[in-house]
Amino acid sequence: MPLEQLVLASGNAGKLKELAHLLEPLHMAVRSQADFEVNPPEETGLTFVENALIKAREAAKVSGLPALGDDSGLVVDALDGAPGIYSARFAGPDASDADNNEKLLERLAGLPLERRNAHFHCCLVMLRSAEDPAPLIATGTWHGQILEAPRGQGGFGYDPLFLDPKLGATAAELTMAEKARISHRGQALMGLIERIKEG
Ligand code: IMP
Repeated sequence: MPLEQLVLASGNAGKLKELAHLLEPLHMAVRSQADFEVNPPEETGLTFVENALIKAREAAKVSGLPALGDDSGLVVDALDGAPGIYSARFAGPDASDADNNEKLLERLAGLPLERRNAHFHCCLVMLRSAEDPAPLIATGTWHGQILEAPRGQGGFGYDPLFLDPKLGATAAELTMAEKARISHRGQALMGLIERIKEG
């Protein structure tokens, strides 16, 4: 499938930056859905894959181009998987990253590090057109622990609280290239690229 242009179906600046970086080796024209005035659709799904599909379909419909939807979030064991698909709106519909991080720290208050296991999940869905009946789907996960205080200036969302125990660094302490190599989004995109190559 020759893919020359791709619309990224997200309004999240952090995600857009990472996806554009990850897609650089493919040398395709990567556009943001904002260029086409796509309004973010309501995320009515109950799973990451449903929401990624909803976003990709809306962007493909409005732009008339192939679209890539990303739905991702933080899954915390001690919170029975919350915030999960509600990660962006954990502290409310207009919550900022700081609000969400504060709520997460409150919910985990008093728990020792060994009970603060969590993982990031990312589901990517690519549609060649809004009516594409066979989307390409790839997922990735990244395991870590939630710290009691933020560390690092990079990344976005829950990155300053997410410790990769093997690296001894939070996601916000990694460069974009380092994060891309190991993150849920990086892994999902590698899987997706394989599928694109398979045709
Ligand atoms: P979505 O845009 O509905 O998929 O929400 C994604 C939310 O999950 C973001 O707003 C972040 O709160 C969180 N999230 C997803 N990926 C990451 C990441 O790579 N780092 C930190 N937070 C993330």
